[in-house]
Amino acid sequence: MKTRKGEVKGRTTAFCRPMGDMLDVVIVGGGPAGFTAGLYAGRAGLKSVIVDNGAGGQLFGSSIVENYPGFVEPISGQSLSQLMQDQALKFGCPVEYDQVEGIVLDGKVKLVKGINKTYNTKTVIIATGASARKLGVPGEQEFQGRGVSYCATCDGAFFKDKPIIVVGGGDSALEEALFLCRYGSKVTVVHRRQHLRATFHIQELARKNDKLFLQLNTVVDAIEGTDVVERVRLKDVVSEEITYQEAAGVFMYVGQEPNSSLVKELITLDEYGYIVADADTTQTNVPGIFAAGDVRQKTLRQVVTATSDGAIAAMAASRYVEQNW
Ligand code: NAP
Repeated sequence: MKTRKGEVKGRTTAFCRPMGDMLDVVIVGGGPAGFTAGLYAGRAGLKSVIVDNGAGGQLFGSSIVENYPGFVEPISGQSLSQLMQDQALKFGCPVEYDQVEGIVLDGKVKLVKGINKTYNTKTVIIATGASARKLGVPGEQEFQGRGVSYCATCDGAFFKDKPIIVVGGGDSALEEALFLCRYGSKVTVVHRRQHLRATFHIQELARKNDKLFLQLNTVVDAIEGTDVVERVRLKDVVSEEITYQEAAGVFMYVGQEPNSSLVKELITLDEYGYIVADADTTQTNVPGIFAAGDVRQKTLRQVVTATSDGAIAAMAASRYVEQNW
């Protein structure tokens, strides 16, 4: 599991507030949405805290980000994430490391229950993001950590001069495949359709890279090996022909699942598990609970839309506190 540099999962920082101290807002999740909510909450003078599980979110695991405004040169997801955290802290919103396991309503008060402590708060912003979806083929689980990975930044270097397969046809698959070209002898992107979903610019970069190969209309049927991954079994979805391709690393980028199980009993979710929230305020069906970033039902999931949500959620939380307390 990824952990932010120098931090121990579950450890709280020196900024802990004593239990029972009522907060204005607890932000659950330290990704772009959570950090931006923290920045805006801090600047609005709200007593706030970001509670993060320290596992590192999607931005933290992204090798490069080149479409976040203001960064003309690509920046690593880890660096951008750290800058956002520093900025929230600068304006008075600390980060505490804890695994939030539930939220309970006690009248107007919300009790955010972590493993280490319970936070009493007037409002909550859920910014827990989304996690990599599993492909669900034979060998995937068996070889996880022995060739199968969901994080190119974390594991790419293990496959120096070895053949790599990337599964998926979206922005993540192609961006991370490009990153993996630094290491692999050859990187093959296996996509189930004829057309890629990734944005045009990323497709262009992929097509220009000599080490990157596209295998379209193809699915990974199974991942095989003895101790570690040695090959994948591929199926052409048009001809149904089965072939085998040598591979040491198989990186899965087949979309995301929202991290919403924490509130599934409390808040309205859509059929895919995303939190339903008002687009103008990010407020959920529970007054005083807001949802920001990739965990929210929305059409465009980007770092820039997550930060936008974070700002909207914090300002809406501020208004809620003013009007209801
Ligand atoms: P995504 O856009 O949902 O793409 C997932 C890909 O996996 C699709 O190509 C999909 O195929 C394929 N797929 C899904 N289930 C599959 C299965 N069972 N078997 C085989 N293939 C399967 O996910 P993402 O790439 O993780 O991106 C998530 C969001 O973040 C998107 O909105 C994306 O634009 C954004 N993002 C943006 C950037 C950037 O702007 N730089 C970088 C990363 C992510 P189909 O195409 O056939 O559905």
